[in-house]
Amino acid sequence: MTSVAGVDGCKAGWVAVISSEPDAFRVEVFETFSDVIDSLPTDTVIAVDMPIGLPDRIGRGGRGPETLIRPLLGERQSSVFSIPSRAAVYAQEGPFASEEQRYAAHLRASEVALATSDPPRKISIQAFGIFHKIREIDRLLTDRPELRSRVIESHPELAFASLNGGQPMRLPKKIKSAVNPAGMAERRALLARHGLPVDFLAQRAPKGAAADDFLDACAMVAIARLHAQGRTISYPQPPLADGAGNPIAIWAAPIAGASESRYVKPMAHLPQNLLNGYREFMAGRYEAERSHYRALAKEGQAPETLMIACCDSRAAPELIFNAAPGELFVIRNVANLVPPYSPDGEFHSTSAALEFAVQALKVKNIVVMGHGRCGGIKAALDPNATPLSPGDFIGKWMSMVAPVAETVSQSTMLTASERQTALERISIRFSIANLRTFPCVSILEGKGRLTLHGAWFDISTGELWVMDPATGDFSRPEFD
Ligand SMILES: [Zn+2]
Repeated sequence: MTSVAGVDGCKAGWVAVISSEPDAFRVEVFETFSDVIDSLPTDTVIAVDMPIGLPDRIGRGGRGPETLIRPLLGERQSSVFSIPSRAAVYAQEGPFASEEQRYAAHLRASEVALATSDPPRKISIQAFGIFHKIREIDRLLTDRPELRSRVIESHPELAFASLNGGQPMRLPKKIKSAVNPAGMAERRALLARHGLPVDFLAQRAPKGAAADDFLDACAMVAIARLHAQGRTISYPQPPLADGAGNPIAIWAAPIAGASESRYVKPMAHLPQNLLNGYREFMAGRYEAERSHYRALAKEGQAPETLMIACCDSRAAPELIFNAAPGELFVIRNVANLVPPYSPDGEFHSTSAALEFAVQALKVKNIVVMGHGRCGGIKAALDPNATPLSPGDFIGKWMSMVAPVAETVSQSTMLTASERQTALERISIRFSIANLRTFPCVSILEGKGRLTLHGAWFDISTGELWVMDPATGDFSRPEFD
């Protein structure tokens, strides 16, 4: 299994409960959070009871996650304290030579917190006391973004409630800063039901960590284990990100009915619109075509059509042809060009995909689809275009159609947009001619097992024009 760890801050640094096998747990105290990371395998999933992700400004109720989890915790919600802005957390780093200095620093940091929150909110001395630990993780995740997907924030009381079917713990863990034995016992019993060995839970906390720190680290390891199995949810869902790119989310086991949000497997942080789109995809199309996806995964793909299209974001073949998963094998490159067959040992991405589609997938059709307002074609018609970068990859790529482009640009009878449309369509015929320079294509076409087609999509009207294979003319298809 993936090794997992649950971590909490403690007097000596960090207390970590580590598990590399289902029934084997050990506890260790580390001086720094980096030490925790470095001592564990590089795929270890770590849940930590420490805020991760620091917004620039704080609204009512604190960071997003705090406002979402408080309502789930009933009488235990006082355990969720508000985290101030990034600037406030970094305002006074210390070290502080005396309690007076520390007190003064707390006041100065509070000033920063007031100025960066709405409504204005000071910092509790309790929160100020853990800022150095928050900064430790923040710096680590900022410097090592690869850790963001496997170091997650959780919260002990939310962890307990979520492991308890949504019921918050009945008893407080502490009463007036003294450990409450009955509250500790309630939590140990719950963790034991979730597979932590009773004798492990019952041991004395290691030196440098308090009994409740150890217990919280045990709760964290239970969440880390679920997270490694993809069985957690985040508040909010999906996570937000702060200015440094660090995630802002508190993770826990799913609570039935507590959240509308669906489970999304933790992933690399992506732009919000992509995450939203993915969520809709999972809820909509994937849900509807689940068995089809499963079958495709089991039996492999068998698309009958290879589509060669432009990279243009407005001309996506799967959208235009309303294609089902597994239906189209798509190559997209600048201006949907096919280079001539040239086995010269260079890197040929289009030829490689073509080779796979024809030889391995044995597609029956190849469609070269051009489109209106193609930027690549426009560049080819402008010989004085300045390269976008010293490499001038587009210039080199489009030089493939330079001879025809030159002929078209010389047609002074045509307007600029007519020249553009003309070259868009001529280059489709040009690519089809190049397709036939590939022996595998021409042989199969000769045997009648492969058909080559041309098409042109007008972005502005949605019109599809289809090439007549005999004449090369484009016309709109007739539908019955
Ligand atoms: Zn294009």
